[in-house]
Amino acid sequence: MKSLYSKFVVFTLGTMIMSALIAFLAVNTFYHQVLKDKNDEKNMEIALSLASFIESEKKLDLEGFLQTQAATGYKIYVVNEKHKTIQYGAPFRVNNLSEDAVSKVLNRKIYHGMRDFPTETFVTGFFSDELANTVGVPFRHNEADYALFLRPDIKFLFTEVHYLLGGMIIIMAIISVLVMLIVAKKLIDPITKLTMASKEVGKEQFSPELDINQRDEIGQLAQSFRNMTERLNENDKIRKNFISDVSHDFQSPLLNIKGYAELLMDSGLPETERKNFAKVIQSETERLSSLTNQLMLLTSLDQLVSPLRKRRFKLNEQMMEVTRRYRWLLEEKDMSLSIDLDETEIFGDPAFLEKVWENLLSNALKYTEAGGSIDITLNKKEDGVVVSYCDSGIGIEEKHLERIFDRFYRADESRTKQIPGTGLGLSIVHQVVKLHGGSIDVRRNTDRGMKFIVKLPSYPDN
Ligand code: ADP
Repeated sequence: MKSLYSKFVVFTLGTMIMSALIAFLAVNTFYHQVLKDKNDEKNMEIALSLASFIESEKKLDLEGFLQTQAATGYKIYVVNEKHKTIQYGAPFRVNNLSEDAVSKVLNRKIYHGMRDFPTETFVTGFFSDELANTVGVPFRHNEADYALFLRPDIKFLFTEVHYLLGGMIIIMAIISVLVMLIVAKKLIDPITKLTMASKEVGKEQFSPELDINQRDEIGQLAQSFRNMTERLNENDKIRKNFISDVSHDFQSPLLNIKGYAELLMDSGLPETERKNFAKVIQSETERLSSLTNQLMLLTSLDQLVSPLRKRRFKLNEQMMEVTRRYRWLLEEKDMSLSIDLDETEIFGDPAFLEKVWENLLSNALKYTEAGGSIDITLNKKEDGVVVSYCDSGIGIEEKHLERIFDRFYRADESRTKQIPGTGLGLSIVHQVVKLHGGSIDVRRNTDRGMKFIVKLPSYPDN
């Protein structure tokens, strides 16, 4: 019994049979406990009145009288003094009347066979067509003693009403079984469809057909399943793109290094060229190293199992420290810097937040030409802090704005290819800010350059 359908059918049929059995046992017990005595009493009254009628009518045609009585729906069994028996009406199924009972009645005692009929679990005494299951009374006729045993003929008890009721019950049972089979199929069909669809997903087929359009719980389950497969599909695409991007980003610096290393092997190379080639190798190695570091950081953010290591620290001091580290570059590019930081404490992970300021500042420096300017502000608000990094650089075209937080996305590659980068910095920034319950916004300045605005709650819940 493997399928849900067969289980459902077997359990329902089992319940129907069990309930019929329990109902039979209950009715049977009721007969034995209550009705049996009454039945015996009722039949005894009939037998006694027959006996007294026979005794009172001296000229009675006994044979004819008993035959007429039997025809009204009784089985009558008469025994005379010589133990000769005559049966009126249909014969009994079992002739199990004891000699004792016969002798007792011939000795003018009465016999309560119905009342004393043994209680059996699966036999309803009421229907048991046995000679022992009768009432017995004595009577005298024409100077001779007789014993008369009697019980109703069950066949006569079944009237048209009983047949109608019986037919009704059978038709009801057939219809309910048929309806149950159809309903079970209808209920289980969508589950079968869901099972097939989940098998497809198991084989990495993330767009299985799922034709379930109902509004009940199964419909909701199907909808959640669809949402889940859509997300899995997206994640799968992201994962595949990610792998191909990573491979590509590793491949090009490695090819450069290989090529320039081969050129360096030429012993007749002039000193200046040798230095230039070595510089390329050095910058490509740095690129690989920063790519690996950023990838490791992103992976650790993705797989963050333990919560961020948050503590209270002075945000203005951290931002100042990061800026100090880049001072030499500012001077080298002859850029002006304005910095205005409110003294602010924040509850966050200092190691990850430091990466945010580093990335925003290094981008502002990278994408701003020599002589440009950078403004950094930190404002303390009632519900958190607002940090902004504003530069007067080359800016980002409107059409690229919505993708700059994607991994490996570099806006307008042709324009920026001169500027080294991995396209991972802003996705790290975005991830860290999100993990701190904050948000990041990017705007194009009206004149030149970009403004990145980070909002962080001072005391996030997590
Ligand atoms: P990258 O390593 O290329 O700098 P990021 O993820 O930090 O990667 O930035 C993604 C892209 O967004 C960059 O390639 C660049 O085109 C653009 N970008 C980021 N910051 C700035 C900025 N301050 N000014 C102009 N363009 C920027």
